[in-house]
Amino acid sequence: GQPIPPATGISSVIRKKLMGYVGFANLPNQVHRKSVRKGFQFTAMVVGESGLGKSTLINTLFNTTLYPPKESLDPSAERPKTVAIESIGADIEENGVRLHLTVVDTPGFGDFVNNDDSWKPIVENIESRFDSYLEQENRVNRLKIVDNRVHACLYFIQPTGHSLKQLDIEFMRRLHTKVNLIPVIAKADTMTDEEIASFKQRILSDIEHHQIHIFEAPTYENEDEETIAEAEEIRSQIPFAIVGSNNFVVTPDGRKVRGRAYPWGVVEVDNEEHCDFVKLRQMLVRTYMEELREHTNDVLYENWRTEKLVSMGVAQDSSVFKEINPAARLQEERVMHEAKLAKMEAEMKMVFQQKVQEKEAKLKQSEEELYARHKEMKEALEKQRLDLEDKKRKIETGRPITPEKNATGRRKGFLRT
Ligand code: GDP
Repeated sequence: GQPIPPATGISSVIRKKLMGYVGFANLPNQVHRKSVRKGFQFTAMVVGESGLGKSTLINTLFNTTLYPPKESLDPSAERPKTVAIESIGADIEENGVRLHLTVVDTPGFGDFVNNDDSWKPIVENIESRFDSYLEQENRVNRLKIVDNRVHACLYFIQPTGHSLKQLDIEFMRRLHTKVNLIPVIAKADTMTDEEIASFKQRILSDIEHHQIHIFEAPTYENEDEETIAEAEEIRSQIPFAIVGSNNFVVTPDGRKVRGRAYPWGVVEVDNEEHCDFVKLRQMLVRTYMEELREHTNDVLYENWRTEKLVSMGVAQDSSVFKEINPAARLQEERVMHEAKLAKMEAEMKMVFQQKVQEKEAKLKQSEEELYARHKEMKEALEKQRLDLEDKKRKIETGRPITPEKNATGRRKGFLRT
């Protein structure tokens, strides 16, 4: 097929094959089993100041060394002057389910003296991914759409224990209509349980105050009690307090666990008593991956697309009324739908016409060939006829005697010599 345009701003994409167990194939609650079997694309973005444990968490989540340890990087390498966007891809297969995972990192975010515009390249990147999707949707051949859109954005909050910083609020305010925001408290092992509880409260009230919408575990009607309870449980832990580690340590009672060892004990990553890592993984990978994808497609992308088409001048007249007038909104959607159909139809017509022209040219060519052959044969026949006439005349002039006729009127001895 046709090449898929990469979303702009991606500086590197590495594809790896991973073997570690992740858990996304355990999907009793995920809705579209069909798309799950076919394999699907999921893109997660991580944002936060450097050193907050983003790479460590991604490695912990996907049980792999997707990111090399920072210590192995060249310390003398020059630091970027702006926020960079880097993606790493991995193909993970589990119980026959294929996941094309892409992690988008944003090194440099919040690391400068002036971070006022740190959110900008990130918004641009997310929108360019929407653009690429829209472009593919508008093609005649829509079978091979690659979904590069960011389905979840983990935002790392520094474990200060105070409240959100201006940088945090600005970022979330700019991004919450474009991406599923999942705020997490980084390095939660540096705070006590009480500190975490009150920090969470403060973060939530800041988020509410600024009318920021973060992703929530959805609940549906007619859901069984267990599912509702699980959604409630997950929701009550937001923003997740996270501890990441790729190292195994031995607990005082002799178990080998992923965790961080301290003089006063061991913090276990996979222990719900110790941190919310398990809840985060449940939300991101095990239970709500499909919902994150759906919300991205049905709400975030759809709103962006409508806004974009309106700003491009499609259905300009009705745009003013769309908030207050549902009929105008419907009308606008209809107009846009028709514009899209018309575009597809025009493209199909073009292809059709091209095909017809090719056929016509071919027919014309074979007609010409036929005609040429016909002419050739006619000429050959004519020549033969002339030859025969010639022969006839010669014979007739060579035998000038009128042959006698016998009783039956047939010429006698005409051909005898
Ligand atoms: P990034 O710059 O955000 O990608 O951060 P890294 O993942 O490279 O981590 C920076 C440092 O913090 C490393 O030394 C990690 O071992 C450490 N670190 C990562 N996660 C945690 C955590 O949850 N708790 C603590 N205490 N340290 C962590």
